[in-house]
Amino acid sequence: MTTTTFSSLLEHPWVVDPSDATDSHTISYNPATGEPIAAVRRQTNEEYNDQVARSNAIFKEWRMLPAPKRGELVRRIGNAFREYERPLGELVAMEAGKIIAEGIGEVVECIDIADFAVGLSRQLYGLTIASERPRHAMMEQWQPLGTIGIISAFNFPVAVWAWNSMLAAVCGDTMIWKPSSTTPLTAIAMTNVAHEVMRNQDIFTPEHGDPCDVFGLVFGSREEVGEPLLADRRIPLISATGSCKMGRRVGEVVGGRLAKSLLELGGNNAIIIMDDADLDMVIRGTLFGAVGTAGQRCTSTRRLLCHESVVDEVTNGLLKAYEQVQIGNPLDDSTLMGPLITEYAVEDMRNALVQAKEEGCEILCGGIEGIERWADRPGNFVEPTIVKVPRGTQPEVTKDETFAPILYIFTISDLDEALEMHNNVDQGLSSAIFTNSMRSAGRFLSPEGSDCGIANVNIGTSGAEIGGAFGGEKDTGGGRESGSDSWKVYMRRQTCTTNWSDEMPLAQGIEFG
Ligand code: NAD
Repeated sequence: MTTTTFSSLLEHPWVVDPSDATDSHTISYNPATGEPIAAVRRQTNEEYNDQVARSNAIFKEWRMLPAPKRGELVRRIGNAFREYERPLGELVAMEAGKIIAEGIGEVVECIDIADFAVGLSRQLYGLTIASERPRHAMMEQWQPLGTIGIISAFNFPVAVWAWNSMLAAVCGDTMIWKPSSTTPLTAIAMTNVAHEVMRNQDIFTPEHGDPCDVFGLVFGSREEVGEPLLADRRIPLISATGSCKMGRRVGEVVGGRLAKSLLELGGNNAIIIMDDADLDMVIRGTLFGAVGTAGQRCTSTRRLLCHESVVDEVTNGLLKAYEQVQIGNPLDDSTLMGPLITEYAVEDMRNALVQAKEEGCEILCGGIEGIERWADRPGNFVEPTIVKVPRGTQPEVTKDETFAPILYIFTISDLDEALEMHNNVDQGLSSAIFTNSMRSAGRFLSPEGSDCGIANVNIGTSGAEIGGAFGGEKDTGGGRESGSDSWKVYMRRQTCTTNWSDEMPLAQGIEFG
C-alpha cells in the first residue's frame, strides 16, 4: 500500500511537504522507518482563540437543532468513516505504528461509536420525579454543555476523538480537538471527513458561522494551545486522555477554575491466572493483551499473577508464542508487532528493564538484548519481553506503567495473595481473571475483588467494546467515556419544577409571610 490511498484526506492548508517545513511546523515521522510523512503548521495562540470563539458562536445555533437531527449528521459522518475505512486505517498504521489490522480496528471503533450516538440522539432521557407539593410537576432534563475540549493521546489517534466527539455532537456540544504532537495527520484526516459531511448537507444551516466549527481542531505547542485550553473559561469540560502526569496537570488547572474534567489516564493492568484456568485461552488472551499495539495500549496486559501450580506451563507457553511474533512494517499483513512511537519510548523501555534487573527480576526473552538487536535498523523497534519477578516481591518498576511490551510474571499461591498484589498499584484501569471456578470469578467481581474500572472473566485486559462505559479508578482518573450512560458528562443536568396550581406552597411546608 502507498500513501496515495490517503493523501486526499490530508489536503489542508496546515499540511506541507516535509522539505517545506519551517520552525512553525511539526514533522510527523513514520515510527517504522524514521522517515518524515508530512509537516503540519502549529497554530498560534491567536488562532487558537479565534477557533474557540467560532466554536462558541456556532454552539448557540447547534444546541437548538433537535437532537435526532444532530444524530442524522453523525450518521452521515459514520458512513463517511465507512467509506474511508481502509485509508484511515493505513494512516493510523503509518503515523502511530499500529499494525494494519489494529489501525482498521480503530476506524471500526469510530464507526461503531457513531452508530451508538445516532441511537442515543433519540434517547437523551431524563426522569420525572414525584413532587411533595400539590399540583407541581418535577423533572430532570439534560441540556447541552457548550464547547468542550478534547485532548487525545498518540496511541488511539482517531478512536479517542470519535468516542468523545460523536457523543458530544448529538448532545448538542461543539468541540475543540487538540491531538498528540506525534499524530497530527490522523487528526487532520478525521476532521476533514467530518467537515466534508458538514459542508455538504442542508440540515444544519446556521444564520451565522460555519457548520464545520462544530468539529474544531487546533494543533500547537503546550504554551500557545495546550495550557491556554486548560485555563480557558469558555470551555466547560476538558476530556483528556494520556499519562497520569498529564492528567494531574489537567485536573489541577481545570479544577482550579471549577470546570469539569473527564480524565482517561494510564493503566497497569493485570491478569490473575488460577490453577483451574483454561491455559490455551490464557496464552491467546495474554498474547494479544501484552504484545498487541506493541504494549502501547492503556489496557495492555503488564502483569500476570499466576498460580504456582501453572506458572511454569504458562511461562513456557508464552515464550513459545512470543517466538512466533513477527516484528516489522505495520502495513504488512503478516506483522504482529510494529514499532514504539518514538526513540524516547525505546529509552523508557530500556530504563525500565535496567531497573527490573536491579530489583532482582530475571529477563526471559526480548529485553535489552532485544532492543540492541534492532538498534542498527531504521524505526523504533524492540522485542516483546517477559520478565520473571522473584516470588513474594513486588518491585517498584512493576508498579509503574512503562508504555512498551514488557510483561511481568508473578507467582502467587492463592486468590487472596493475587488480589492483594493486583490492587496494590496506583492505577486502576483494566483487569482480568482466568478461572473455571464460579467462586473465584464471583469474588474477583465482588467489592473485595478487582478495584479497576474494567473487570473481565476469561478474556484479557484489552480490546473493550464501545457499548460499555470505558475508564478507570485511582490514578487512571475516574473518567468514563464511550457507552452506557457516559453521555451524561457532556451535558448539564437541570432539575425543573412546574407549579400548575394557583397556590404558592413552599417546599418542606415552610410558611413565609
Ligand atoms: P501524554 O500524556 O504524553 O500526552 C497526551 C496528550 O496530552 C497529548 O495530546 C499531549 O500533547 C497533551 N498534553 C500533555 N501535557 C499537556 C498540558 N500541560 N496541557 C495540555 N495538553 C497536554 O500521553 P501519550 O504518550 O500521548 O499517551 C500514552 C498515555 O496515555 C499512556 O499513559 C496511556 O495509558 C494513556 N492512555 C489512556 C487511555 C485511557 O482511556 N485511559 C487511552 C489511551 C491512552
